[in-house]
Amino acid sequence: MAVVLAVMPLAIEVAFVLLTVAMLADWLSHREHRRAYLALAFGSLTLLVLLAPSLSQSGPYGPLVTDFGIVLFLVSGWALLMFRDSFISLGVNIRRFAAIALVLIAVLGFAAQLPADTQEPHAPLQTIALAAILTAWVLCVTEPIVTLWLASRGRPAVQAARMRALSLGYTGLVAVIIVGTLGGVVVQNPAVQLVLDLVTLAIVPMLFFSFYPPTWLRRLWSQPEEEELRQGLHSLLAFSPDRATQADSALEWATRLVGAAGALIIDSDQSILAYSGVDEAEANAIAHRAMASPEALTMPLPPRSTTTLVIPLDLQPGHGSMVMVAGPFTPMFGDDEVIRLRQYASSIAAALDRVTLTARIHALEKAKTEFMNIASHELRGPMTVIKGYLTMLEGGSLGNMPAKAQAVLPLMIVKADEVNSMVEQMLEAARLEEGHLTLHRERGDIIELTELAIDSFRPMLSDHPLDLEAPPEAVHAEIDGERFQIVVRNLVSNAIKYSPENTPIKVLVEKNGGTAKVKVVDQGIGIAPKDQEKLFTQFGRIQREATMHVAGTGLGLWLSREIARLHDGDITVDSAEGEGSTFTFEVPIVS
Ligand code: ADP
Repeated sequence: MAVVLAVMPLAIEVAFVLLTVAMLADWLSHREHRRAYLALAFGSLTLLVLLAPSLSQSGPYGPLVTDFGIVLFLVSGWALLMFRDSFISLGVNIRRFAAIALVLIAVLGFAAQLPADTQEPHAPLQTIALAAILTAWVLCVTEPIVTLWLASRGRPAVQAARMRALSLGYTGLVAVIIVGTLGGVVVQNPAVQLVLDLVTLAIVPMLFFSFYPPTWLRRLWSQPEEEELRQGLHSLLAFSPDRATQADSALEWATRLVGAAGALIIDSDQSILAYSGVDEAEANAIAHRAMASPEALTMPLPPRSTTTLVIPLDLQPGHGSMVMVAGPFTPMFGDDEVIRLRQYASSIAAALDRVTLTARIHALEKAKTEFMNIASHELRGPMTVIKGYLTMLEGGSLGNMPAKAQAVLPLMIVKADEVNSMVEQMLEAARLEEGHLTLHRERGDIIELTELAIDSFRPMLSDHPLDLEAPPEAVHAEIDGERFQIVVRNLVSNAIKYSPENTPIKVLVEKNGGTAKVKVVDQGIGIAPKDQEKLFTQFGRIQREATMHVAGTGLGLWLSREIARLHDGDITVDSAEGEGSTFTFEVPIVS
């Protein structure tokens, strides 16, 4: 027991020396004011611990050693207060007041000539000086405990944990002093002394973890943000109207994940896409530095005396980066943060690229719609003139034509009608895409409209026998008669185009509960199941040897289904390759 008790002070000394060495090394590698204060505080406390044995030996240098002890003790208090000030500023006046008060208390301590041996009885002035020294130190250390703890409330998880850890660190220091004083002054029992020594020794690593959180601790702190991060990743998948909005929301999660104070995203053209937690001027300065040495992952930033972490973003048009800016309450950036942010960065890059691609696709679609609009408008005029003259020629109102020329006129009129219907499809498609396709719905008879549509089509039927089967009484619906006919014509036109000559085509009108169905049945080439999903898409034509020569835009079925759906109806297909197809156009009816 005696041996253990003798070894304990040595172990405590060694622990304090190691702690100071670690803090000094950290300061030397980062050169920040904050780290210097911490190194100074622990350096002076460690010297005090080392000096403690010589304090009780009153020799010729006894008073000098005691005075030095007072200075070390008060310097440690001041440095700890300044360390706290680097997180939440105390203001110039309080800083000045604290420094002057500590100097005066030190002078009082020198004047009172405190006895080196704490067991000795004190004169009144000595008691006052001792009380003043202890009170000053305790104030310097307990104020941060309270302030940091209170300030941690309401902060994001990682920053709050960092602040609470600092507060605990200060508490640990107070505990060390109390335990140390108790050990020296009050306790005589060796067993209790041993326990106190062990407690002191255990506090040392806790102090280190509080001020220098290791990876596992930082990971633990960021645990509560993990679920949020998952949501963050999810929000990256959600639609964003533009890259800046996407980048903004991505930054929010990235900042929280590592407890950073600010962050920015630099685009591949080196412009700043989004920033938060820093002002514009700072963002520009940081971006400038990050771009100047993109390979550097961490670098000090003198204006904020803080560090940044640059994570590359592999964007489709080139390299960009995400820069995290550490603030006072950011736990140091380590490998762990870099790995996590890199993973997150690849999701951000993908999300940003997706926004770019979506915007590009929109632009292309717009161009295509504009093209359809212009082309169909420009074609419509000349085609009306051509059709008009062809009809006049056929009717003989422009004079007699040679028999051979007369014979080809019907075919020319059919072809002109085909072109007209394609132009009509393109116009309707452009209107639909621009949101300008409005229905003019009124009560109409489906049977009558179907007959009208078929009749306008008769000249194109060539050799296909066409049958219409319908109920005897009218079937009424609220419909846009013109558009209804466009749909029926499309379906019948397809039945003709994709069936061999002479095969019959059937059109059935059926009334079924609250809906009316117009079925167009052919015995043509049919459609394989794998091709059927392509049917109702824009420009969705099925590539087949047999229909290579058949003219079409691939817009008809898409347009027809859209029109059907605008009527609260639909179009469905039932088809087998080589056996023909049945297209069913369905609309709700009114009584
Ligand atoms: P288009 O006929 O102008 O090519 P549609 O949108 O009307 O465009 O039709 C899309 C594709 O569906 C056609 O290219 C054709 O391959 C197929 N299709 C449509 N109707 C039939 C049908 N009745 N029989 C077989 N294939 C058809």
